[in-house]
Amino acid sequence: MLIYGKQVSANLRAKIADKVNDFESSMGRKPCLAVIIVGEDPASKTYVKNKINGCAEVGMKSLSFEYPDGEPQQNIADTINSLANDDGVDGILVQLPLPKGYDESYLLSLIPDSKDVDGFSPNNLGRLAMGNPRTVSCTPLGVMNLLADTGVDLQGKNAVVLGRSNTVGKPMAMLLLNANCTVTVCHSRTVGLEEFTRKADILVVAIGKPKFVTGDMVKEGAIVIDVGINRVEGKLCGDVDFDSVEPKASFITPVPGGVGPMTITMLLYNTLCAAVDRELNKR
Ligand code: NAP
Repeated sequence: MLIYGKQVSANLRAKIADKVNDFESSMGRKPCLAVIIVGEDPASKTYVKNKINGCAEVGMKSLSFEYPDGEPQQNIADTINSLANDDGVDGILVQLPLPKGYDESYLLSLIPDSKDVDGFSPNNLGRLAMGNPRTVSCTPLGVMNLLADTGVDLQGKNAVVLGRSNTVGKPMAMLLLNANCTVTVCHSRTVGLEEFTRKADILVVAIGKPKFVTGDMVKEGAIVIDVGINRVEGKLCGDVDFDSVEPKASFITPVPGGVGPMTITMLLYNTLCAAVDRELNKR
């Protein structure tokens, strides 16, 4: 069966919009997300536009700060610091990757944990690892929502995650572990990758290699989640070879229309949660 991320995402956005409305009624202000983009990368510009449009769709306020490649790093740091101290701002997001020459981890370190709606900060990642999450990275959180939508009990399942990035693979593995799966993480140095993938009841692929996972690498009846977004000859495709894997999978996400639509929805969710938490902490 196909897992329709678009539909799951639309249902969640409707719920988020209701909660945003409640928040505004009781707090007299809208939750607010600030987005910073540096340079002219077309994909990054599209992502930022979609994030701003997502905010409008659920009734949130957004602020956008656009800098040319070459803008002194200190100016960007000053903007983050001023947003960090701005009581009306709930979430701060720096669109990655930054152009060459900028110190990504330094700039991200200026975002306070309470406004880190991407869930990238060491504290937020550490809390997830300790089984006490606060803000969780949007894409893996979206995957957990898609898995929940299948209705399958995750407990005790063999989950295999391909990829170990700090933004997708690692938080994904920790979320599955917290959901009581038995988790294996594979990466570019894994020897005998297929032996692991063939044992997976749940296979999450986030490696950035077009159509890498083929039908012979997948167990009959597995749930297959394709996080990859690749452009091949102008067309989008995932890290999973959909045509050969789909007949074996019990559930599978398409690309596009699977995991992708969930990521921004989870960003909106994280921003709403950050706004609520910040207001509660004032009391
Ligand atoms: P990344 O930072 O480049 O990490 C890729 C990971 O894949 C690394 O851990 C790497 O291993 C591993 N890898 C590479 N080749 C491999 C191979 N042949 N076998 C096994 N593992 C291999 O990428 P990312 O940011 O995690 O993103 C992964 C994919 O997801 C990309 O296609 C990206 O566009 C997509 N993505 C989609 C969304 C969404 O909203 N749908 C969001 C984020 C990312 P090493 O650590 O050993 O190098």
